[in-house]
Amino acid sequence: MSIRDDLLRVLDDHSLMRWTSEERNSTTCKCGWNGNGFELHRIDAVLARFGVVELPKPMPTDADIAVDMDDPFEFRAPWGTYYATGGLVESDTGPSWTTAHARAEAAALLAAANRAEAQS
Ligand SMILES: [Zn+2]
Repeated sequence: MSIRDDLLRVLDDHSLMRWTSEERNSTTCKCGWNGNGFELHRIDAVLARFGVVELPKPMPTDADIAVDMDDPFEFRAPWGTYYATGGLVESDTGPSWTTAHARAEAAALLAAANRAEAQS
């Protein structure tokens, strides 16, 4: 199952069941939630399950690691620069990951950041 399928399931689980006021500002969700701000409720449901971040823009690169790349771009972060190289994600600090491993690392980092923010 892809992340798109998982996201569709969350959105389906939080579908509008019915308007609960004549002014159409109060709703009942498929999950049982009732109130106004239905779209914010749906966003909260997505954010409770998925880490949503704005992806950095790819930057053109002339780094040595990118010499043989057809589409040489780099992605900068505070502690390193990353390159998409033929199915791998490589770092200027040495490690490289499969795309699945890179996504798993990023997900764990986002989950820890979310938890740390909730604790502060
Ligand atoms: Zn809901």
